[in-house]
Amino acid sequence: MMSYMKNAPVSLMLATHGQLRRRKPNLAVLPWGATEAHNQHLPYGTDAMGAERVALRSAQIAAGRGARVIVLPTIPFGNNAQQQDQIATVHFSTTTALAILRDVANSLKRQGIERLIIVNGHGGNNFTPLVRDLVLETGIFIAVVNYWQTCMELQQKLFGDPGDHAGILETSLMLHFCPDSVHMKAAGPGKRNPFAVAALEQKGVWTPRPWTKIHPDLGAGDPHGATAESGKQAFEAFCESLAKVLVDVSKAKHLP
Ligand SMILES: [Zn+2]
Repeated sequence: MMSYMKNAPVSLMLATHGQLRRRKPNLAVLPWGATEAHNQHLPYGTDAMGAERVALRSAQIAAGRGARVIVLPTIPFGNNAQQQDQIATVHFSTTTALAILRDVANSLKRQGIERLIIVNGHGGNNFTPLVRDLVLETGIFIAVVNYWQTCMELQQKLFGDPGDHAGILETSLMLHFCPDSVHMKAAGPGKRNPFAVAALEQKGVWTPRPWTKIHPDLGAGDPHGATAESGKQAFEAFCESLAKVLVDVSKAKHLP
């Protein structure tokens, strides 16, 4: 709980009704992850933890700059449709995600919080069609931040290829967050087997990867060379970048 304590009261988990009444938020942040295998060396909670930490730290920075922001509890499960052959992997289907997001958006709207930012931590979550429909339906502002897709210049400098899943970026972040949960000796190379049908590899053609066939060690991207220091630098850059979004969205008179 210690790391949460210093985030009060931007974390709803720690805010009291009195605190929220005195400084009513106009912007809610919803961290949304997944709980799934990450190569053989990172914990299942990697994506949920990344989204949550980036959301809380960014909100803390943004609140210091006058944003009226509150971070909702993290949604721990995501779309794991192609990982159902892995142990204890819970899949939220798109209709489940839509139902959850609809209830979150409508609840906030009733309380006069009409700005919502989803901080996504999992590549398999695709909120685009959900948000299109819910913006129309609710009339509130909703944005999605895939935090790992921000600060690409720095990522390239730090990591070369940051990897896609349990690669050098995520491994560095986890070495920064909780080094005891990273088991580097167990890490595979995170290599990707091509599809059996070569025509599926070209740009503009897409089909989901049957994960265990395409990524035999359950990682996508080589985690070797990861360091806590580069994880810290990437984390701080992600938080600074998201904080700017939170400040601007919270303070904007008209959106978008
Ligand atoms: Zn991940």
